[in-house]
Amino acid sequence: MSCDQRDDKLSTTFSLCSCVTVDNKLLRNSLTKMSNKLIKNINRMSKLFQPIKVFPKEAIIKHDDKSKSYRLLLDMGVIRQANPGMYTLLPLGYRVLDKLIAIVDNEMSNIGAQKMLLPHLTSAKLWNQTGRLSEMGPELIKLKDRHHDTLILSPTYEEAITSLIVKVGSIQKSQLPLLLYQISTKWRDEMKPRLGLLRSREFVMKDLYSFDLTIENAKETYESVNQAYNNILSHIGVPYTVVLGDPGLMGGNLSHEYHYFSDIGEDTILSCDSCGINVNATMNNKSTCDNCGKKFTEHMGVEIAHAFLLGNKYTKAFEASCHVQDSQVYFEMGCYGLGLTRLITAAVEILSTHECLRWPKCIAPFTVCILPPKEKSKESSAFHYTDKIVDMLDEKNIDYIIDDRINLTIGRRLFDAKKTGYPYLIVIGKNSIQPNPLFEIHDLNNSQESNMSLDQLIDFFNNVNVDDEKIKEAII
Ligand SMILES: [Zn+2]
Repeated sequence: MSCDQRDDKLSTTFSLCSCVTVDNKLLRNSLTKMSNKLIKNINRMSKLFQPIKVFPKEAIIKHDDKSKSYRLLLDMGVIRQANPGMYTLLPLGYRVLDKLIAIVDNEMSNIGAQKMLLPHLTSAKLWNQTGRLSEMGPELIKLKDRHHDTLILSPTYEEAITSLIVKVGSIQKSQLPLLLYQISTKWRDEMKPRLGLLRSREFVMKDLYSFDLTIENAKETYESVNQAYNNILSHIGVPYTVVLGDPGLMGGNLSHEYHYFSDIGEDTILSCDSCGINVNATMNNKSTCDNCGKKFTEHMGVEIAHAFLLGNKYTKAFEASCHVQDSQVYFEMGCYGLGLTRLITAAVEILSTHECLRWPKCIAPFTVCILPPKEKSKESSAFHYTDKIVDMLDEKNIDYIIDDRINLTIGRRLFDAKKTGYPYLIVIGKNSIQPNPLFEIHDLNNSQESNMSLDQLIDFFNNVNVDDEKIKEAII
């Protein structure tokens, strides 16, 4: 099969998925005007595996009252359900996760945390050693191997990591604080999975474990990881709230939760508007603030991160210790979870409208969508500006996709682009064939539209993503 034939076959497959037919011959003719680099490497909508659900024109679309964004993520081909509580991240969804991982990795490296990967399956024997095998009950997904040993599809790794520390033997004082983290799929057999990746049975989480010799040092580590969490969440830009948490089954003596306030949340958070204290209602059933006596305001919160100062519950159980002046001292441990797929779900829910997805700019599937003119239209002579805009974005290291389905009107393509929620849309429309050509720029997150010359576009994008440069380099 030649390359060309394969192209044709692909476009046929896509027309079945998205009800869009791409005439490859016409497209190739148009693309010959563009540089070779563009033809080879470009992110093109006609190639994108984005199975958009197409509704008949007369269909009345019912909005899901529970979540604005969940139905849109499914309809716009960002995620897809595989089993109850289990979702495939399609290419657009995976790009979002990849960008978030780059932000997290950057902050983790700033605090000296080392990335690693533990096996997804953990021996049930380890879980028995801390008593959590029975405490966690049916939420643990268990399976037996051919030797009849029970394995756990891990929801968390305190046992596994502590046991690893013991097995490797001598941890030197100079290695402390030891901060180890991983980003991987975790499992929890939820009784009632709901709203996609908000409460799913399979999810992607970053989990970090810290080891120190003294409580004072462990507290310093706890502070620095909490600061890293604040940096990550400030970078994403969706308002969040730090809440005094409940150590619960994890054990330990201090914990903080990070919440996005949203109606889809499952936790009740009590906030004191007077002194700024926030408490999870599971920790406090009073209606007034202990600190200042003012009445609490109630919010529904989505817990996206949780930090625990664990003490030596796990290190004692596994005898993870360090030799200090003729005595064995148990490590003081901390553990820190960040639910990546849940964070994405909650952030998108907060930003989206009933009709359109909206993303935090730094994790949007693509930052920019370029819409060249329709083929054979009055504006089609302005097609070559696509090349110039692409060069400009390449130079600024801003990622983009071109909606090259030029057999469709700009209006039709704008509809999809707005619904998918790329933060910036650049339209090569009717003003692009004037003597002084202008391009439409739609800033979706700020609901602003304007016409700009190429020079003005360059200035505009100079101010976009300045802080994200480092992150973007890791992605593109
Ligand atoms: Zn108060």
